[in-house]
Amino acid sequence: HWSRICSRLQAEVGEVEYRTWLKQISIGPVDGDEITLNLPTRFLRDWVRTQYGDRLSALWNAELPSIRRVELQVGRADPVADPAAAGDEGGSADAAQVAAVDERVAEARSELSRHDLAAPLDPRFTFDTFVVGKPNEFAYACARRVAERPSSPGFNPLFLYGGVGLGKTHLMHAIGSELTRGGKVSVAYMSAEKFMYRFIAAIRSQSTMEFKEQLRSVDVLMIDDLQFLIGKDNTQEEFFHTFNALVDAGRQIVVSADKSPSDLSGLEDRLRTRLGCGMVADIHATTFELRISILESKAAASGVAVPAKVLEFLAHKITSNVRELEGALNRLIAHANLFGRPVTLEATQDVLHDILKAHDRRVTIEEIQRKVAEHWNIRLTDMSSARRARAVARPRQVAMYLAKQLTSRSLPEIGRKFGNRDHTTVMHAVARVTELMERDTAFAEDVELLRRMLES
Ligand code: ADP
Ligand code: MG
Repeated sequence: HWSRICSRLQAEVGEVEYRTWLKQISIGPVDGDEITLNLPTRFLRDWVRTQYGDRLSALWNAELPSIRRVELQVGRADPVADPAAAGDEGGSADAAQVAAVDERVAEARSELSRHDLAAPLDPRFTFDTFVVGKPNEFAYACARRVAERPSSPGFNPLFLYGGVGLGKTHLMHAIGSELTRGGKVSVAYMSAEKFMYRFIAAIRSQSTMEFKEQLRSVDVLMIDDLQFLIGKDNTQEEFFHTFNALVDAGRQIVVSADKSPSDLSGLEDRLRTRLGCGMVADIHATTFELRISILESKAAASGVAVPAKVLEFLAHKITSNVRELEGALNRLIAHANLFGRPVTLEATQDVLHDILKAHDRRVTIEEIQRKVAEHWNIRLTDMSSARRARAVARPRQVAMYLAKQLTSRSLPEIGRKFGNRDHTTVMHAVARVTELMERDTAFAEDVELLRRMLES
């Protein structure tokens, strides 16, 4: 049960957050309708309780309906009951993570006391260096508009959203740089994560009033990657009040996230409603044309001649995210400068060998089998065994279904990997899982979760 809850939490909150806060939990005893969870320090216990307490109870109750309460305690799990927590290595890794969190809080606290609320703006991220194309022209126009006339009706808040590496942070910094150039407007830019650490630091040093005042004294507040606040109810609440106070006072808010306000389902409704009240602009995935324009502009700025063939090759190969595209080009340029050799297609394939390989990477059937077996707690060998018990047959069918969806293997090839089964068996499995997913939402969620974990 616990490992299932863990993988669900991990998918909900993301890897970093999961490792920072939730991975430290070890399970204690069950007593009637109550289960005890242990955390290594008081601070972590309090934090997990306020930020994730309700979610943990709900997940436990969904897994094991007899459990109605989750009690969080400071302490270690009984090493016999939880062998995973017994090893020395596990212990020191936990301690290292606790120390890392404490360090970030301390850092936020010292920033607070220095009164420099805003993270510095990156001078490279300006409107001039932002390449505009179909996928981002609307977001760009909105950002420009806010930079020219902040707090105009209809543009407050400005909510920018889109996938990773598509230019949200770049646009926010561009707005900030433009506005601070005159020196009259005070701008505070920070990630939602930083916002949270500062908030915790303020609570710990009993200076929440100062924190609130500082935040509420800026003309423009920009919070990046708001999705980080999903499930952090207290920080969300604080942000909500700050948000209202600023908008009511005619100040500008700019927020970014990976999804639209209506799709950020872990945020409180009233916050989502307010976030959607101004201008909502999405940045779409890049097109081939835009990737070429971005590469051309960055190559030109570098002063190194990069043949069109090479740019096209890169734009074809690296499609997901501008940051990676940029990284690949930078490496080529560095290489050319270092060795004084011209950039050619052959040299590109050689220099970027590892990056290109990573982009070719497809999930394998073996990985799918492993993850699915882990998820339902069955043996990996049962993926190929002849056992027909529902408890193993159903996960096996899901693995076949995912193999069909996520790989380019044919039905007979998939069948062979599952103990030499016939292609009609695979076909049947795909149909069965599809049908079940339509009927059973909990099952559908499980399958989707697995898919996401495998794709990431
Ligand atoms: P996000 O915040 O959406 O994850 P970033 O703003 O950090 O993405 O962008 C990732 C990198 O790609 C940055 O170095 C940024 O300058 C660059 N980038 C993204 N979009 C563009 C664009 N349209 N023109 C120029 N550079 C871009
Ligand atoms: Mg960003």
